[in-house]
Amino acid sequence: MTAWDAVAAHREGVPVLLPGHVWLAGAGPGDPGLLTLDALSGLHQADVIVHDALVDQRVLALAPKTARLEFAGKRGGKPSANQADISDRLIALAREGRRVLRLKGGDPFVFGRGGEEALALAAANIPFRVIPGVTAGLAALAAASIPATLRGINRAVIFAAGHGADEDFDWAPLARTGQPIVLYMVMHHLERIAGALMRAGLAPQTPAAIIASAATPLERVLISTLDKLAADAREQKCEPPAIVVIGEIVKVRERLLAAACLRPPPQ
Ligand code: SAH
Repeated sequence: MTAWDAVAAHREGVPVLLPGHVWLAGAGPGDPGLLTLDALSGLHQADVIVHDALVDQRVLALAPKTARLEFAGKRGGKPSANQADISDRLIALAREGRRVLRLKGGDPFVFGRGGEEALALAAANIPFRVIPGVTAGLAALAAASIPATLRGINRAVIFAAGHGADEDFDWAPLARTGQPIVLYMVMHHLERIAGALMRAGLAPQTPAAIIASAATPLERVLISTLDKLAADAREQKCEPPAIVVIGEIVKVRERLLAAACLRPPPQ
């Protein structure tokens, strides 16, 4: 009996992935331990698994041998497979009567293109379900012992994409909130965005952290300040995928790591 069979045997109402249906599921940031039970159940029921590059090999290894794996997404930062082609592929597989699992890194709706795929499936009248996943922003903070919120420090947390369609995005209103900013897809734009946040009033000494390859064997945590962040990232050769967090909340890490029961991940 596999771990999944054991869990499923005790779980009521396991959702059924029917032929001709698509599940848009989050695979979490890496470690298969961060999969939801619904995503795992999708992996076990799918005929075809259409995954992107952020889905960890250890997650794909949980798929039964009978499932077909199809890659669709970005590879090494090169332009992605056309989004319309991916949506069309999901629709075509469903129309062939397959049980389709569209597996995306992290959460399908957080800075992924899950929303576009959901709209395309709805327009094509394909029954689908969205299964949220553990988003990299929160998993990376947890991995670095940085709480996303802490009473007395912040009451909101901002998730923002450093790279996207709106390159002329105005960072000043985010800086003015004084709340921590968690940035995705930012490694190639760190200098520019850190500069914009400082011009908008964030102190150069504002604590900041980069968490690269969170929840994978390559995980790395770099602690810095807003003014030195880009230079430190270059010097330490910090590579994407990475999450950047900027704000006083980063300092809580020291307090947590001082506790005997927690140790920083190996660098
Ligand atoms: N939907 C995904 C995010 C897709 S955007 C989610 O919810 O997590 C891709 C960005 O996610 C990357 O550029 C990086 O900023 C972040 N990311 C994804 N996996 C990561 C990981 N294991 N460690 C750190 N950042 C990660």
